[in-house]
Amino acid sequence: MSLIDHIIRPDIRALAPYHVQDAAGFLKLDAMENPYQLSPELRAELGRRLAEVALNRYPVPTYAGLKARLREKMGVPDGFDVVLGNGSDELIAMVSVACAKPGAKVLAPVPGFVMYALSAQFAGLEFIGVPLRADLTLDLPAMLAAIAQQRPAIIYLAYPNNPTGTLFDAADIVAILQAVGDSGVVIVDEAYQPFAQATFMPRLAEFDNLLVMRTVSKLGLAGIRLGYMSASAALLAEFEKVRPPYNINVLTEAAAAFVLDHADILEQQAAALRAERLDLSAALARLPGVEVFPSAANFLLIRVRANGKTANAVFAELLARKVLIKNVGKMHVLLEDCLRVTVSTPEENAAFLSALTAVLSS
Ligand SMILES: *Cc1c(COP(=O)(O)O)cnc(C)c1O
Repeated sequence: MSLIDHIIRPDIRALAPYHVQDAAGFLKLDAMENPYQLSPELRAELGRRLAEVALNRYPVPTYAGLKARLREKMGVPDGFDVVLGNGSDELIAMVSVACAKPGAKVLAPVPGFVMYALSAQFAGLEFIGVPLRADLTLDLPAMLAAIAQQRPAIIYLAYPNNPTGTLFDAADIVAILQAVGDSGVVIVDEAYQPFAQATFMPRLAEFDNLLVMRTVSKLGLAGIRLGYMSASAALLAEFEKVRPPYNINVLTEAAAAFVLDHADILEQQAAALRAERLDLSAALARLPGVEVFPSAANFLLIRVRANGKTANAVFAELLARKVLIKNVGKMHVLLEDCLRVTVSTPEENAAFLSALTAVLSS
């Protein structure tokens, strides 16, 4: 037996590495990044702030200043704290680890965010996926039946969902919170909140089992890796115990604090992207053979069944034209022939549309 066979878990050995496509030289519309930057003046000021940061010191692990800004600017209700993560990916990992009792289960609608299942597997939890309906809306009866049968410790509901863009009904989420009761935590993942303008954050006090998770990634700060979550003090205190004490580095802390002091700029950018989503969606719907799903996020899911051209072929021909979107067709049967594209600036959206139009008519 080799060293690797001795020490590495068989389920990890069987995994393919998480693949991220090299995007150099591409029109990059695959990862829901905000295309807008800060003004040159603000970037220069940010540079001065970052130059003052003491790189030789560990962060102060209470992160009091950053947390206070997040609570104030992001609508965290009075009396509720936040736990910080190196992206929500790390928050998901922390919750998984803290809840990984033998036999514990994680449940989420599928297709959904891949990290829910992956993080469950890493922590040794069983993942149960409950299929959405064919129109990609939540199948509430199926969710409630699975919850009653499986008694999951963690339920994820991305609000809105990735990769579908669907905003589940708030009433369905409330029904799930009530059905789960004190047998599990319901994580409402609001990564796309700035584009959905819908949130469970103000409702934290109503549900002891509700956890609201957010990130600054889709808002325009994907590079700094910062996520936050709020829930009852009792729940947060347990999750805080598994947080690596210095998980937010001093540069991220300083950059986030600076940008949050100018949060109105990010809000204006999000508003522009919401308007662009409407225009891009209408333009895509006019293309023959293209179906556009309703989206409350900064991306659109489309199904391409054009004259003899498969979605796979469309994706490959876009790649050849240096346009990178996401081919999600193999993720789940419900996503057959589906592609996902980030909503970007008017110029980039127009470039994407003209490339897609050319591919579909060639
Ligand atoms: C992008 C995304 C995240 C990831 O957030 P990071 O903070 O960048 O790790 C979390 N949840 C959903 C549903 C997402 O689509």
